[in-house]
Amino acid sequence: MKGDVSTPQNPGNSLLMRWIADHMNYPYSDHCLIWPFGRSRGYGSFGRNGKAIKAHRYICDLRHGPAPTPKHHAAHSCNRGHDGCVNPNHLRWKTASENFKEAKPHRKLKLLPEQARAIRDLKGLEIETVTAKRYGIAESTVRNIQAGRIWQEGVKRGRAFRDVEIRHIRSLQGKRSGRVVAEQYGVTTNVIYRIWSRATWGFVSDMTAQGETK
Ligand SMILES: [Zn+2]
Repeated sequence: MKGDVSTPQNPGNSLLMRWIADHMNYPYSDHCLIWPFGRSRGYGSFGRNGKAIKAHRYICDLRHGPAPTPKHHAAHSCNRGHDGCVNPNHLRWKTASENFKEAKPHRKLKLLPEQARAIRDLKGLEIETVTAKRYGIAESTVRNIQAGRIWQEGVKRGRAFRDVEIRHIRSLQGKRSGRVVAEQYGVTTNVIYRIWSRATWGFVSDMTAQGETK
């Protein structure tokens, strides 16, 4: 598995370096910053002079100075290195034993806004246990997100639609822009596109069931 690098030679090394420079003073520590380039076993990775460089080590070095010893780990306080987190605020040099000792209690998974959004969109489509497992979080967290108690954003997302509203939204596909429909229903355009593509609410049939008057 060694040397299993998604993009061993990054032709866009300058783009990559600019991305790093742009995120060295990344101000947010409440969520992870995911490396957008190649990965090796989940960890951000890139090639330089024919060598595979671990992105989180590289960034830890820039932020905190060189590792005290080559054996030091660039440890993640979020424990999400395998998900590609390179948030400089989550990285510290630690010895292997410090890293393993502290890894467990810090296992508080932080979600990205788009993950919270996706979890919200899964409401009613998937049982909470499955969603919780998928994202490695507690069921109660899933319920809290879906109920809008946490990770709430400016716009209502994942609101409950009535079947008649879903059919109405579908009928507007190709006639109105997603933005216009989104404004009408007080949701994000993403919600509308997901309804149109049947990524969500696919269980609502197009035909009004007999006996249903709405
Ligand atoms: Zn992180």
